[in-house]
Amino acid sequence: RSSAEKFEFQAEVSRLMDIIINSLYSNKDIFLRELISNASDALDKIRFLALTDKEVLGEGDDAKLEIQIKLDKDKKIISIRDRGIGMTKEDLIKNLGTIAKSGTSAFVEKMQTGGDLNLIGQFGVGFYSVYLVADYVEVISKHNDDIQYVWESKADGAFAISEDSWNEPLGRGTEIRLHLREEAGEYLEEDKLKELVKKYSEFINFPISLWATKEVDVEVPADEDESSEEDTNEKTSSEEEEEVEEEEGEKKPKTKTIKEKTQEWEVLNDVKAIWLRSPKEVTEEEYTKFYRSLSKDFSEEKPLAWSHFTAEGDVEFKAVLYVPPKAPHDLYESYYNSNKSNLKLYVRRVFISDEFDELLPKYLNFLKGLVDSDTLPLNVSREMLQQHGSLKTIKKKLIRKALDMIRRIAEEDPDESNDKEKTDVEASDKDEKKGQYTKFWNEFGKSVKLGIIEDASNRNRLAKLLRFESSKSDGKLVSLDQYISRMKSGQKDIFYITGTSKEQLEKSPFLERLTRKNYEVIFFTDPVDEYLMQYLMEYEDKKFQNVSKEGVKLGKDSKDKELKESFKDLTKWWKDALVSENVDSVKISNRLDNSPCVVVTSKYGWSANMERIMQSQTL
Ligand code: ADP
Ligand code: MG
Repeated sequence: RSSAEKFEFQAEVSRLMDIIINSLYSNKDIFLRELISNASDALDKIRFLALTDKEVLGEGDDAKLEIQIKLDKDKKIISIRDRGIGMTKEDLIKNLGTIAKSGTSAFVEKMQTGGDLNLIGQFGVGFYSVYLVADYVEVISKHNDDIQYVWESKADGAFAISEDSWNEPLGRGTEIRLHLREEAGEYLEEDKLKELVKKYSEFINFPISLWATKEVDVEVPADEDESSEEDTNEKTSSEEEEEVEEEEGEKKPKTKTIKEKTQEWEVLNDVKAIWLRSPKEVTEEEYTKFYRSLSKDFSEEKPLAWSHFTAEGDVEFKAVLYVPPKAPHDLYESYYNSNKSNLKLYVRRVFISDEFDELLPKYLNFLKGLVDSDTLPLNVSREMLQQHGSLKTIKKKLIRKALDMIRRIAEEDPDESNDKEKTDVEASDKDEKKGQYTKFWNEFGKSVKLGIIEDASNRNRLAKLLRFESSKSDGKLVSLDQYISRMKSGQKDIFYITGTSKEQLEKSPFLERLTRKNYEVIFFTDPVDEYLMQYLMEYEDKKFQNVSKEGVKLGKDSKDKELKESFKDLTKWWKDALVSENVDSVKISNRLDNSPCVVVTSKYGWSANMERIMQSQTL
């Protein structure tokens, strides 16, 4: 078309498309799920706008919030159409090609090192999966604020946009037409599409229909001279004709019943809000599938845990929370500049937002899930909702439930419990739960630590979730409760040391005496641990003592006084030689075994490790 405006794809997007086109062996099914998910998002958006302005929905068919799929076998086209918000010309240019999303390059990188295309939706570039099956794609879209446009591309580095003067007007919404590649013919089979929708789009909250072939019985006139195509079978079954034999001289036309193929809309999903059902009635498989559709994480892995509950009282809501099996690629990258939680907020079944930062504190941003509240008002703006008093209560309850859920991963993990009596978990379950907490800890341990730093009111609950290695843990992870349960009699403080690695710490002179005397010392080797320990002062009435700082008490030794006396002169000599701005004092100590002396940090000073971290940060 000569009037079309041409655009080039942004470079990263172009690279992504090349990868998609050339990924011969990946699962091509995913394009449908991505398109349906986009259609569903677009419907959510218009439904949200309609809360405060009914006009936006229009009338008649336009007001029907649905998704429709049609197949054209002859032309080899699948079209997926929604009556969602639609895209203006500017939206089409930006969303489908010129602006790369933050996940684009991360995804390209992943794919180049053999990543899983299945995760495309998580990186916010799901649309381009259409090129797994199509070599030419048209996107026809009508937004309330603009005229109808067609976006088209053969994935050759460029796309074109034209004012649409030839297609049927959409009213509002988007139709995506995929001109299938030769080898993607299977997607023209109705059964294949039905199967895919069932498999991947079960939890879409809008009806999805297919323009499907139906066999129906039709009555037709049984004229002798009717088309000769009819097979003999039907001719012999024409005994029925008798009942329409003429009566009392009145002549009725003879009819007969034949099977005929017609097409009609067949709804493929039953829109079911899993969170409205009783948790007892929802199966594990349903929870897993619901997690996948919520999180767009279609890897084989199951979520590590979930919690489905109803809150009652002043503020009523239902929620489903999940701990994903893996941390998203950018969880900590964007930690300090984004506050985006991954919970979807619904008010009375209507989707409001998935960028509502008032629902969970930052450190729980790794959770996925959904909250549906009956208490929040429906017909107010997002900004007003954000300030609603009930949110505080919701947040508080969500945190509580989330921490309970995480604690349960540990409780049910046979690797975790050193308490033989806690074996109420069924044997078959046990295998599945084994090692789950370590998995959780490796993915999200840092979030627990950030929580201890940020959330004073839940500090103790979070501290229960902490795991670390220690001088006695033998490569395993230890909890504070375990540490306390094996403290030596008379030991008052919880001993810990910070450094870069376990290997380095094991050799530390600070440990000599402690290990020989059989004290357990916690190893903190993550840079965030230094900050953590500035906030975690005590646990279960026990103080934390950094063994590289002054104040380590190992009980009095009878020889202490004697030693102090006999080394008085040497101590004085050292004092004169060293005490300056850098050294506070010189003391006789019983903390060493083999090393002659050691530099200790004062109680309120920064540990040597902290100095190291600070230095590396200012570089
Ligand atoms: P994501 O859905 O994660 O944002 P996609 O690559 O799937 O990423 O889609 C890119 C963008 O294109 C969407 O964010 C949306 O703005 C727009 N878009 C795609 N499909 C539709 C549609 N059916 N209706 C309206 N906008 C759409
Ligand atoms: Mg999408």
